Amino acid sequence: MNGSLRDLYQEVIIDHGRRPRNFGPLPEANRDAEGFNPLCGDHLHLHLRIVGGIIIDARFEGAGCAISTASASLMSEALKGRTLADAEALSVAFRAMVTDAGQGGGSLGKLEVLAGVREFPARVKCATLAWHTLEAALHGDRRPASTE
Ligand code: ZN
Repeated sequence: MNGSLRDLYQEVIIDHGRRPRNFGPLPEANRDAEGFNPLCGDHLHLHLRIVGGIIIDARFEGAGCAISTASASLMSEALKGRTLADAEALSVAFRAMVTDAGQGGGSLGKLEVLAGVREFPARVKCATLAWHTLEAALHGDRRPASTE
């Protein structure tokens, strides 16, 4: 990755970390889940509104580091309009991207700005927290999701 592209990615992460999109409650939500990343102290509460097998809206609350907040913000944008199967596939692809250096992504769009966290193993769980929480919400798990 060249320097300017890396800088651009950093800017997107900082922007979403400071001004998260889709942040706040979602009274019409019909699925939700909580997630924790004990290593960093990140806490996330994800709300989804799913109608006819499609994610109509996604919002989140909570407090965490810039990476976890940016990841949740970018995820919430990426989920809208997707089918549940599509959301699952995106979750698998995202987690592969940040944990497996062999995965170049290519179909993850804006989410690829987070690919760089794989160089920082301690931050991978910050980036995947939102996705673990999504899995819990999609599967209707009652227990909070944890990255541990
Ligand atoms: Zn974190």
